[in-house]
Amino acid sequence: MLTAEIIAIGSELLTSERTDTNSLWLTEKLNGIGIEVKLKTIVGDDDARLEETIRDAMKRSRVVIMTGGLGPTEDDITRKIAARAMNRRLLLNEKVLEAIRRKFFDMGRQMPEINSRQAMVIEGAEVLDNPHGSAPGMYIEYEGRSIGLLPGPPREMRPMFETFVLPKLIAKAGDVRVVRRVLRVVGMGESAIDEKIAPVYTQYKNPQTTILFNRSEVEIHLTAQAKTESEAELLLDGLAGQIEERLGHSIFAFRGETMEEVVGLRLAVGGFTLAVAESCTGGLISQRLTEVPGSSVYFMEGVVTYSNDAKIRSLGVDSELILKHGAVSAEIAEAMAEGVRQRAKTDFGISVTGIAGPGGGTEVKPVGLVFIALSDDAHTEHRKLMLPGDRHLIRWRASQAALDLLRRRLI
Ligand code: ATP
Ligand code: MG
Repeated sequence: MLTAEIIAIGSELLTSERTDTNSLWLTEKLNGIGIEVKLKTIVGDDDARLEETIRDAMKRSRVVIMTGGLGPTEDDITRKIAARAMNRRLLLNEKVLEAIRRKFFDMGRQMPEINSRQAMVIEGAEVLDNPHGSAPGMYIEYEGRSIGLLPGPPREMRPMFETFVLPKLIAKAGDVRVVRRVLRVVGMGESAIDEKIAPVYTQYKNPQTTILFNRSEVEIHLTAQAKTESEAELLLDGLAGQIEERLGHSIFAFRGETMEEVVGLRLAVGGFTLAVAESCTGGLISQRLTEVPGSSVYFMEGVVTYSNDAKIRSLGVDSELILKHGAVSAEIAEAMAEGVRQRAKTDFGISVTGIAGPGGGTEVKPVGLVFIALSDDAHTEHRKLMLPGDRHLIRWRASQAALDLLRRRLI
């Protein structure tokens, strides 16, 4: 397998002014054609550091992609230093010079003399046209290495890479197809998941498995390589199946779908309708559900009943019940779910009531205490949760748990 590294050039990328996004984008693209990115470096506009970095990169990696520093100014050193690192000359390319002149002419301006620097081309390099800017890129074969010099601005770099560099690298990478699949898990922590599935996935080098924490969910990323896409898919099917055996319904998505997409699909397929009553999530569940195109088929109504009065008025919750149990209680969660279902005349009603913090907690009802409920024609059930995290996370996790309660009912 070919390995690559990326060098992002520019002092501004070392500061909080600008973030190096090019390397992330390039990594996606390279991984996608079966070239593994092993390292990336950010180098300021410093001749010696950059030369050393380029030399080292060419020793380590068969593919080296540089971005940035191809501009016309004194601090744009990539061209000059890359040539030096390869012990090649920089030659003025008349055709490139003419093209740059013409670009300025077309904009009704005269080319500033410093832009002629951009027509300096490394000996033996292929010049890559830049329709979106003045700096052309370069592609060089150097001692069995594939070297790319690309401009810094993403809107110039991306099309140049895709048009000129990617096809060459695909040819070099040979018949390697990389296919990725994202499994998403609800209601289990990273370590609990790992404990269950490590005995399975550690047996495979291909597919490769990574476990990632993402908001309230844990994601299992599987990456398979094969000669063809369908072979890679087959490898993924095999491992995903074994992981499913271990985790069961805790896996809610096998193709990276969101919880609201999964729940929405199940509602749509079953021809069911839903209404939502929310307190501490403040409409988050409704917002998530309606983010999915086509949700109007199953999502009928969402009510945010933050105050006790709103719960009584809008959902018909018994005021005596609130006095007796408090608004954050199993009884009220169930009454809210029932109330919203009857009000909207839907098949299902779900509800959330809880304490998201940071204030408002007591010893008996601490921050993170959340009740969710699900009501249908036959019965109403609730869950009591103690959710960790800050306000944002508690709200998100509460919404996730409520949606998951419905998902499990629909299985
Ligand atoms: P130019 O001819 O525009 O000067 P250049 O190749 O010299 O092109 P730089 O001067 O290094 O590019 O960068 C120009 C701008 O491109 C930066 O200010 C920044 O906004 C963006 N840029 C550069 N490198 C990156 C990167 N690695 N990730 C994201 N954006 C970048
Ligand atoms: Mg520049």
